[in-house]
Amino acid sequence: MDLTRVIEELGIEEKRIIKVKYSGHFKNFNANAKYNADKIEFNLSRQWKDIDKDIQVGLIQSLIVKIKKIRNIKTEDMKLYESFMKNLSKYAKKHTYDKELEESYERVNENMFQGMMDKPNLIFASESFNKLGSYEYSSDTIFMSTIFKDLPLNEKRFLDYVMYHELLHKKHSFNIKNGKHHAHTTAFREDEKRFNVSEQELTQWLRKKRRGFRLLDWGVISKHL
Ligand SMILES: [Zn+2]
Repeated sequence: MDLTRVIEELGIEEKRIIKVKYSGHFKNFNANAKYNADKIEFNLSRQWKDIDKDIQVGLIQSLIVKIKKIRNIKTEDMKLYESFMKNLSKYAKKHTYDKELEESYERVNENMFQGMMDKPNLIFASESFNKLGSYEYSSDTIFMSTIFKDLPLNEKRFLDYVMYHELLHKKHSFNIKNGKHHAHTTAFREDEKRFNVSEQELTQWLRKKRRGFRLLDWGVISKHL
């Protein structure tokens, strides 16, 4: 890969050594970056190897922009990368639905999206109070914390609230899967407010459910939602 071009197109200075490796440790099209004062190393899942070089350049540029917290730069390659990732979710195999999550999705789709939202894969992940849910663009999957399993009817709205949040990620944008970037734009937050549960109510509910555990602080919850 032409790494000089990666930097030049961004119009920035970068004196660190840049390396790109393909690794079998990632699923799907995940990637991450490790860096210190001397070098930046990009690790891409092996699936990236066969993908068009321009799109890979766009991926690396997108990661650099995140690392260096640069705003307002979007190269042609970054646009290519974004549409590649968006199209991936369209063609991702869809066949894994947990029954309870499917019911939640159907309620939310009906009430909040006028039935227009495509159903992603819906899977219970692990028992976590920190990470309530997540949406993985590359496999079009919502992962939900198991703390939302078997809720009494009057509490299912908290599951639906997190379901709605994750479906908004599907609607609005995609996450770069290095765990750093969340697409909570202003438009996203405006949409989110339309739901009849507030983040405060959710926090209170979590607090009750988490009796005996350390209270979560507000920032932690919203960051990982
Ligand atoms: Zn989120």
